[in-house]
Amino acid sequence: MRTIAVYPGSFDPPTVGHLDIIDRSSRVYSRVIVAVARNIRKNVWFTPAERMAMLRKLTRTYTNVEIDSFRGLLVDYARDKGAHVVMRGLRAISDFEYEFQMAHMNKKLASEVDTVFMMTGERYSYISSNIVKEIASFGGKIDDLVPPLVKKEVLKKIEKRRKA
Ligand code: ADP
Repeated sequence: MRTIAVYPGSFDPPTVGHLDIIDRSSRVYSRVIVAVARNIRKNVWFTPAERMAMLRKLTRTYTNVEIDSFRGLLVDYARDKGAHVVMRGLRAISDFEYEFQMAHMNKKLASEVDTVFMMTGERYSYISSNIVKEIASFGGKIDDLVPPLVKKEVLKKIEKRRKA
């Protein structure tokens, strides 16, 4: 069976933790759609186009991974794409409550779509996009947290924000 999985998130910016989930999902599902959320209330640094461009470069070598974006309800997007799986990563117990609520709500909205959780890679459990932005804005090293091309974009953004 060809199963399509959607991996949604803000990816602001993509981290090595996200890439680990993408890599592992690409071995499990025949097609993985990484979907950048356009309507997020979080403090975002990168436009959807910038986040998608970074993800595209980072996943160039995967033939079954594609990058897209969505607005509105995730389950409507998943349905539209013919995806029966929503992929999420779990880092800590603190992720659990929100994810639990979302998974149940999404199941209620679209019973044919299942949420599948992948446990974070051991080395990545403490990494989040917010931590990356916080450390970088105080001049800390983010080399182990993001790929080199993302590091470059984060530093550029900090420079721009400083000048603004
Ligand atoms: P964040 O929560 O860091 O702002 P996103 O909203 O972009 O990140 O997260 C998208 C998905 O990726 C979520 O399911 C989140 O739990 C997962 N994720 C984020 N960082 C990691 C990580 N370091 N390891 C595993 N999964 C992660």
